[in-house]
Amino acid sequence: MIKNVSVIGAGTMGNGIAHVFAQTGHPVVLIDISAAQLDKALQTIAKNLDRQLAKGVITVHQKEATLQNITTETDIGKGVAAAQLVVEAATEQEALKLELFGKIDAAAPPGCILATNTSSISVTKIASVTKRPGQVIGMHFMNPVPVMKLVEVINGYATHTTVSDTIIALSKKLGKIPALANDYPGFIANRILMPMINEAICSLYEGVAGVEAIDTIMKLGMAHPMGPLQLADFIGLDVCLSILNVLHSGFGNPKYAPCPLLVNMVHSGKLGVKSGEGFYTYTPGTKELIVSEKFR
Ligand code: NAD
Repeated sequence: MIKNVSVIGAGTMGNGIAHVFAQTGHPVVLIDISAAQLDKALQTIAKNLDRQLAKGVITVHQKEATLQNITTETDIGKGVAAAQLVVEAATEQEALKLELFGKIDAAAPPGCILATNTSSISVTKIASVTKRPGQVIGMHFMNPVPVMKLVEVINGYATHTTVSDTIIALSKKLGKIPALANDYPGFIANRILMPMINEAICSLYEGVAGVEAIDTIMKLGMAHPMGPLQLADFIGLDVCLSILNVLHSGFGNPKYAPCPLLVNMVHSGKLGVKSGEGFYTYTPGTKELIVSEKFR
């Protein structure tokens, strides 16, 4: 049974992953190269717990117990030494993840399962740099982690069935709903989502419709909670571009080629919510959606 969990990367996803494990009784070591990022993550977790408290989802005691379950660490070797499961949620760069998994493999105990929260990088390739490829798996949480129910579980080419079964059972214990996919570019979630987002951007680029019309049609017509352009801003346009590049190079099919407008926006630093501007502009403290001046 998995008890001790180490989460690597304390950004958007890492703090949410630490939150759900800690809330379900797992002692969590949250690891990041940046001490400032760890402090910020603890503040975010406390804020999100307060939101759950206000909604009556948790009690004060559960909030305290969750926070007490989380410790932080900047040294990977120390941080994974007692782990039964490591969930890596560091920056989406292949070279970085390959280097990181070499280090994790060297420091984690022999029985420990190594999971990655990657959106698109090959789980099989990540596993290949370790001495335990059968114990490496994809555990793809959705953003925001405490709210979203899905965990896309990705079996690498060498992942043992027993490891897959363990991660499926654990995901259920976290209150999530796991769904299994094999390790091919984009897995399932992003293989299907990203071409839709790319097509929405191409429709804007070709002048078929404006930002609001595209998002309204997809929201009201398909009952999507968010239009594809707003969703792209939320995910991060740089992240969307990097996933499309993985699909394009992985399948060698031109249908996945990123729209030139997306490429230009990323080169201009217009990354969506995190940079303050993408298809919409974002001002802290306001929830109003305002189409970016470029597309008015
Ligand atoms: P982020 O940029 O918010 O956070 C990444 C964190 O990793 C940063 O805090 C950074 O300091 C840390 N980091 C970088 N190198 C490190 C290292 N060597 N050791 C320890 N920490 C290191 O990124 P994110 O959005 O949280 O994404 C993390 C992972 O989750 C990526 O693989 C991404 O593809 C995946 N993912 C993201 C989303 C999303 O919506 N943002 C959704 C699903 C999956």
